[in-house]
Amino acid sequence: AIELRGVNKWYDTFHVLKDINLTVASGEKVVICGPSGSGKSTVVRCINKLEPHDTGIIRVFGQEITNDPRSYSAMQGDLGMVFQQFNLFPHLSVLENLTLGPTKALGLNRKEAEERARRYLERVRIPDQADKRPSQLSGGQQQRVAIARALCMEPKVLLFDEPTSALDPEMIAEVLDVMITLAQDGMTMVVVTHEMGFARKVADKMVFMDGGEIVEQGPPDHFFTNPKSERCKTFLSQIL
Ligand code: ATP
Ligand code: MG
Repeated sequence: AIELRGVNKWYDTFHVLKDINLTVASGEKVVICGPSGSGKSTVVRCINKLEPHDTGIIRVFGQEITNDPRSYSAMQGDLGMVFQQFNLFPHLSVLENLTLGPTKALGLNRKEAEERARRYLERVRIPDQADKRPSQLSGGQQQRVAIARALCMEPKVLLFDEPTSALDPEMIAEVLDVMITLAQDGMTMVVVTHEMGFARKVADKMVFMDGGEIVEQGPPDHFFTNPKSERCKTFLSQIL
């Protein structure tokens, strides 16, 4: 579904991504972890074309990401993104947040978009919050709205960048539960997170980044029980 081959990126002279090679197969769940500043968000943002990469190739469903705006619009609908700071529109109701994309970008009419929105609010287990503003919801509820909003575009892959790290501890589980359900339903997912309980449960592949490199990647049983590099061992000992 997604392929990165020899991807490099610089911010001025700062080499933020160093020769990144990563594939995400359809249906696969890939969890990316690593210390702050290691380049995790940058990888996800390059996949989603929120940031340009400098060298190497990124393909999304076979289509290479280039600076051509047509390549962007063609792959945009394939990818959904959930951010740490939910990024909901504060002046719109939950329902309006969910129907905006489908009506504007997918051409659904209002009724179709609302039906779809209610279906996904059900899926994230807050069917009764449709008419509220984001500010009237808890952080966990807001993040579930953000997930529903991404689902309303019916993407083929969902990208998550630390979706629970802005949440109070008691709200983390409700968001992870929704993500686990999506994983079980077969969604292809790339998740930047330090929630290693979640990772053990759903990950097909673990990726450890440090200093702009993928230091280690592999199946979770091996990753957690027998990490190869010292850097990864140290990191895991700090967060587990
Ligand atoms: P965190 O766990 O803190 O979210 P991260 O692994 O997601 O970290 P990135 O956000 O990808 O790390 O950032 C990687 C490096 O690139 C950091 O050193 C950061 O300071 C730097 N960086 C990120 N965005 C920019 C930018 N727009 N301009 C310059 N440097 C940047
Ligand atoms: Mg980050």
